[in-house]
Amino acid sequence: MTMEEQARPGSDPAHPDISRQSPWRLLGRALLLRCPNCGHGGLFTGFFEMRERCPHCGILLARGEADYFIGAYTLNLIAVEILLALAFLAVVVATWPNPPWNALQYGGVVLSILGAVFCYPFAKTTWLAVDLIFRPPKREDFITRVK
Ligand SMILES: [Zn+2]
Repeated sequence: MTMEEQARPGSDPAHPDISRQSPWRLLGRALLLRCPNCGHGGLFTGFFEMRERCPHCGILLARGEADYFIGAYTLNLIAVEILLALAFLAVVVATWPNPPWNALQYGGVVLSILGAVFCYPFAKTTWLAVDLIFRPPKREDFITRVK
């Protein structure tokens, strides 16, 4: 290994899973509910339950942090807020000058609950992708940690 290779963060030719990847590739894989690191599926055991690590590349999906998915909750909240705002705007524009205010009010509640449930798995994989963009995977992300 040359000095240049050692100095480049996120690059380890001895471990093929450790490399800096395109942010768009990481996010695209996440939005397909695939592992942002390797692109393989099977990350979930149920709709809400994520495995501890990717079954293909072995990366720790919570990256060894107990409160890791607070970021996913935040992303989920942002996604649902955007979804609500777009739906509200679309209905108001389409029905102007007489928008159905009652339907918007109750529909907004229903949409926010359904949206939060539907977006949750996507928020989890997307949060992992965002984290991998800013903190590329290291060797420790593939090693089992003793709690
Ligand atoms: Zn993987």
